[in-house]
Amino acid sequence: MKKEQKRLQDKVAVVTGASSGIGRGIALAMGREGAGVVINYHGHQESAEEVKQLIEAAGGQAVTLRADVGQEADAQLLIDTAIGHFGRLDILINNAGIQRDAAFLEMTLEQWQKVIDTNLTGPFLCARAAAREFVKQGVQPERSKAAGNIIFISSVHDVIPWAGHANYTAAKGGVQMLMKTLAQELAKYKIRVNGISPGAIKTHINQQDWELEEGRKKMLSQIPYGRIGNPEDIANVAVWLATDEADYVTGATIYVDGGMTLYPSFGE
Ligand code: NAD
Repeated sequence: MKKEQKRLQDKVAVVTGASSGIGRGIALAMGREGAGVVINYHGHQESAEEVKQLIEAAGGQAVTLRADVGQEADAQLLIDTAIGHFGRLDILINNAGIQRDAAFLEMTLEQWQKVIDTNLTGPFLCARAAAREFVKQGVQPERSKAAGNIIFISSVHDVIPWAGHANYTAAKGGVQMLMKTLAQELAKYKIRVNGISPGAIKTHINQQDWELEEGRKKMLSQIPYGRIGNPEDIANVAVWLATDEADYVTGATIYVDGGMTLYPSFGE
């Protein structure tokens, strides 16, 4: 019997912020589907090594790399590592992100700048380095219909305003237009560019919200589908977007949010 081809067989993916949460979930899923994965981490080397071991234990290939996505040289190093280690690049997942919450009247320039650097400038730097590589590689029809795929992990807060998070919403709103503009500008090179905007996904970033009963209740009241999401909910969509099944999809944002963007307070 012919061995079944995995969905991302022989593809190479860079996943930023892949030592935890959504990035970890995407790295594991892409590894499971046959992609070689560059696991980028910022602070937690052991967690990144664990993701690598899990991918390898499932028969995949991975390499870890410490890099700050907001630094130009680090962003380039991420792409160079994919080329140096796996010989090419097919997929960039711009996932790394942080929150530095503050009431607007109290927000410091440092809090503003840190979030913009990581959540908006980082995705710009990584996308530019990846796109240059995709243009150089061109389309290889036996591998994929696209020259490359860029996927931005944005947030429902690219459309839902969020008091106390002006830096975060400004960055995610920026990511939304960056994604669309790149999709428009890079389509002629057959580079597909899309976004996934998660709702409430159970990770470190919102732990203070879901770990207490009251916070969990409030979160659930904002989710018509009645459950908090998991990293796998995002990873499944990311894998699909990176395959040729999604070849006609570019410039799209998929809201993976259990209906959070459906104005649930109008539901009664
Ligand atoms: P997380 O905190 O587990 O993951 C964020 C990752 O980014 C961490 O591994 C962190 O080390 C890494 N990181 C931070 N700064 C970095 C830098 N300068 N360079 C490289 N890596 C860096 O949280 P998460 O929920 O998995 O977040 C992943 C993405 O999903 C973020 O962009 C976040 O805004 C987005 N998101 C999350 C949710 C949610 O509910 N969890 C909802 C919407 C959007």
